[in-house]
Amino acid sequence: MQSNEKEEELLALFLLFASRIEARLEQEVRPVLRFAMLELRQLIEQISPTGQFRIYEWQQIQPLALPILSTITSVLRVQIPPELEAIRPRIQKAAAEYVNQPAPVVAPIGNQELLKKVVIGGITLNSILGTPGVSNRLTINMARDLDRMVRTSLFKELPTTEIANKVVRTLERNGRTIAQIRKGSYGNQILNRTNNTITAAVWDIANKTARDFWEDSAAAGQEWMWLATLENTCQLCLPYHRVTKPSLNDFPALPKVHPNCRCVVVPVV
Ligand SMILES: [Zn+2]
Repeated sequence: MQSNEKEEELLALFLLFASRIEARLEQEVRPVLRFAMLELRQLIEQISPTGQFRIYEWQQIQPLALPILSTITSVLRVQIPPELEAIRPRIQKAAAEYVNQPAPVVAPIGNQELLKKVVIGGITLNSILGTPGVSNRLTINMARDLDRMVRTSLFKELPTTEIANKVVRTLERNGRTIAQIRKGSYGNQILNRTNNTITAAVWDIANKTARDFWEDSAAAGQEWMWLATLENTCQLCLPYHRVTKPSLNDFPALPKVHPNCRCVVVPVV
């Protein structure tokens, strides 16, 4: 019973560290994202107000969305690694306390190495965020989302102003145009995309950091237990909650299993 509490405590601690860092990263990316949405809106407004030739106009200007969207990716690329580096010692300390061991001396990992260490959906964060000035998956996916939305809207013969509103709504405040990201908009879709990337990266490094430490210090025959965060747990992870296996390799996959996965695998103590 007591051990049960210990595991819950560890998971709660990991979630607390992660949520703080995620909130900070989300705040850092948001103004850039808002500005990019305003620029994309202006890009869309270059298309004729109505008419059937608008699809050709869009084809002409569509590549201009890439440099605008890459500003979002660049912020993530710069901001994520130092935050991941900051969470690692905290995770290691908590992981060490969990197995009653002294906190290890944390060897720093460089930004580039961290970007390669983090894997989201089988792809390294380095490939997702790319190297500066080079195309990367996140930018390309965001551009694809935009292209799909614009083409569908043109197919439905929506006026151009309505398509611009679908990117982001604007309001005037003190003579300034401000982007208002509403549910169902392209801006919101991109906000979710970036937030999911942030969450997945943070949880991946939390899991890997803890597991690396535990694996290094594990005695022979160490058993492992899967812990799911029981709030909003998906059907994929829920059946694994509190399942124990004699070795890490006995789990079919290790967390994080899917984008919003909040599971960990811990040694049984
Ligand atoms: Zn999960």
